[in-house]
Amino acid sequence: MPTENDQPTTQRLSSPETLQMSLAAAMTLNLKEGLFFRNARLYCLNLLLTYPSGCRGNCSYCGLQKSRDGAFSEKSFIRVSWPTYDLETIIQKTLENRHKLHRVCLSMITHPRALEDTLYLIRRFREEVGLPLSVLMNPTSMKTADVAALQQAGAQMAAVALDLADEALFDRHRGSGAKGPHRFDHYWSMLAATAEVFGKNKAGCHLICGMGEREEDLIRRIQSVRDLGARTHLFSFYPEKGSRLADAPACPAGQYRRVQLARFLIDNDLSRSQVMAFDEEGRIKDFGLPPEDLEGWIDSGRPFMTSGCPGGGLETACNRPFGDGPPSDIRSYPFPPEEEDVARIKDQMGWETN
Ligand code: SF4
Repeated sequence: MPTENDQPTTQRLSSPETLQMSLAAAMTLNLKEGLFFRNARLYCLNLLLTYPSGCRGNCSYCGLQKSRDGAFSEKSFIRVSWPTYDLETIIQKTLENRHKLHRVCLSMITHPRALEDTLYLIRRFREEVGLPLSVLMNPTSMKTADVAALQQAGAQMAAVALDLADEALFDRHRGSGAKGPHRFDHYWSMLAATAEVFGKNKAGCHLICGMGEREEDLIRRIQSVRDLGARTHLFSFYPEKGSRLADAPACPAGQYRRVQLARFLIDNDLSRSQVMAFDEEGRIKDFGLPPEDLEGWIDSGRPFMTSGCPGGGLETACNRPFGDGPPSDIRSYPFPPEEEDVARIKDQMGWETN
């Protein structure tokens, strides 16, 4: 087991002996009480590495950023709280509740020990739990040659959180413009290496819609991710309390719906950004499909569900209930949208039914 060489700040809570997990995961493992709105269920155990000294990144939109006050383990990762549990409890509770889950995900943070601890955790989960496992990598803590080690240890999929559509926005929110350590080129190389090592549809790229980019730029990025053989896991920007973007507006619903639809078509090889059309402000005006086909996909509701790693026959096992918007304003649907949801979605995206 790796040894602790970190200097604790306020309390000694450190991976790999300790992990944070999403509130939804804690509810699924019966570690927290509660029911989700509309009985949403989670199918992926989302776990996050944690260290007393915190994440070395400084991303403008993240609740874990190092410049924010407070003990690291009390900071939330994204939108909802991420309580902390010891690894043995997590493994035991996962085994008890294994029938509810189709996947486990380990999220790395920017820390010198993150890779070593992740490899140890992959092996423990592979040997003791046996569910398909994804790693949300932290490229800054890794080299492209390390990607193969994740697969050899037992990871079945891996993803890179590029988050931003282009290099200038990446630099502003995560790189030198944010006094952060991340570099766009390295993230992109890591994604390409992941697609190569893990194979088609086994690599993912997290992208956030509503960070100041144009629809066209994000959609072209989604296409370049697809051209690597990877898929995009899309998020709607929602201001995280305590982050530097806490007062920034959430992504407009219409913008997110249009990009969700384009992502669905691109990732399922139903259309390509090259045959889509955009207006002078970069807003999509033609998805490259006959209107009746397009309406069929919209009516299915599938394009508006959470996009993430699959499992158990589901397009997305990692459905992150209400992870990018409150239940009163659902952005990524953790369940199939119902008829009234689809009507609302059409209204949000300005779709005119004939
Ligand atoms: S989509 Fe979910 S399971 Fe896949 S890497 Fe991202 S957080 Fe992990």
